[in-house]
Amino acid sequence: MPTFTSRFREIPRRVPIDEHNIAVQFDESKCKNCTLCRRTCANEMTVLDHYYLPSTGDMPMCVHCGQCAAVCPFGAITEVSEIEKVKAAIKNPEKVVIFQTAPAVRVGLGEAFGKPFGTFVEGKMVAALRALGGNYVFDTNFGADLTIMEEATELLNRLQSEEAPIPQFTSCCPGWVEFAEIFYPDLIPHLSTTKSPISILSTIIKTYFAKMKDIEAENIVNVCVTPCTAKKSEIRRPELKASSQYWDIPGIRDTDYCITTRELARWMGEEGIDFDALADSPFDDVFGQASGGGIIFGNTGGVMEAALRTAYYMFTGRKAPAIFLPFEPVRGLDGVKKATVTFGHFVIHVAAISGLANARAFIDDLIARNAFEDYSFIEVMACPGGCIGGGGQPKMKLPQVK
Ligand code: SF4
Repeated sequence: MPTFTSRFREIPRRVPIDEHNIAVQFDESKCKNCTLCRRTCANEMTVLDHYYLPSTGDMPMCVHCGQCAAVCPFGAITEVSEIEKVKAAIKNPEKVVIFQTAPAVRVGLGEAFGKPFGTFVEGKMVAALRALGGNYVFDTNFGADLTIMEEATELLNRLQSEEAPIPQFTSCCPGWVEFAEIFYPDLIPHLSTTKSPISILSTIIKTYFAKMKDIEAENIVNVCVTPCTAKKSEIRRPELKASSQYWDIPGIRDTDYCITTRELARWMGEEGIDFDALADSPFDDVFGQASGGGIIFGNTGGVMEAALRTAYYMFTGRKAPAIFLPFEPVRGLDGVKKATVTFGHFVIHVAAISGLANARAFIDDLIARNAFEDYSFIEVMACPGGCIGGGGQPKMKLPQVK
């Protein structure tokens, strides 16, 4: 009888990573065929098994979540690093290198330096990025606040529209967006039209900030630091060139490079930065402050809570009560939480889902029961636990890091 592992040994020795993959790469010479990557891709993310279905044309269907790299114990699967490109920009005196950091990095970076899980190291993270040569360090949470304003406005519009499809699904997670585009294209009209926090902030930096500081947009190098390998793919989407349109200069991308928490830790180690000796440094002004709503983006359910609180305020003119979103975990389906909130005449049923296997099961159930209208708003984060468990987060104490 075939064992659990042998099923995965029969699958060719690779997850769906081809040579064009912009987020993750596979070095077959380091692979010991332990099958962890394939089990994660198939069971946790439900991509691999479906990749081999005729319905997907047997094409590489990677959603760039990086969970395969996060579990690979042998370094056979790694993120495609852009550090050398960032270093080259820092050395170029014409370039202004701007880092922005996603919420989960400041609670993941410490782990790479032996700190207890979840230690908050925001000040040291900012100091390290300055020491590495960043001209400015901004907080993606500022962009998250803008995402929330947009997403809450859109939700209210959809709730009051006869035509706009409900439920509204969040769109800030690029792994989820790619998954929906590949496997559930009928859901695309349900995806929020709001850009992710990183994409919003990058555009503002290359337009408003460039103007304010009199910097030519083509000389700004926007680098996002994220827990997320899928961002490496997202920043290359052809539609994310708003600053190019704004300045009428072809070829400017809103975000130039993406490095993960793991890459940042490795880079710090290579440069001999003594993490413990770093004095805390604040974010730069203008885009260094954010509300509590922006900060909770890194947790599963955070996007949903922030957007609903904002929608409540927009609709009623009052702050949402302290206990506003009484999430109930759903037994037997880890990573799915449901809640019902009421404001005005709206009774809103919502769900927050993390992990693509949970998302597939939840959506398939809605399809089978023809029950989409049971929900008004659904948050999906691709990685188990949300961005905290992102594919670019530290997986162990890195040997080259002190
Ligand atoms: Fe990236 Fe977060 Fe989505 Fe994972 S859950 S793919 S880390 S945005």
